[in-house]
Amino acid sequence: MKSKVGSNVKATPMRVAHAALPDSGASEFAKACPACEEGLLLVRRNDKHEVTNVDRCLLCGQVVIYTDASIAGWPLVDVTASKGLAS
Ligand SMILES: [Zn+2]
Repeated sequence: MKSKVGSNVKATPMRVAHAALPDSGASEFAKACPACEEGLLLVRRNDKHEVTNVDRCLLCGQVVIYTDASIAGWPLVDVTASKGLAS
């Protein structure tokens, strides 16, 4: 079986709704990765501790851009421009 570690690091970022992803059970933020289905998306915060809309799978490295307005009551801060991901 081919390892999934880092397999999607260079893949095109995926736009997904955090609310639509399967729960991982780890926390209210953690979701199963839509690309590899085994890795975790933990939701990232910026240096102001705000929740951001760009995340990366811990296993395969897939970048996801959340389309939700908020996650678990936290408004999402758009950091796509600072990550070079603005469309
Ligand atoms: Zn993944």
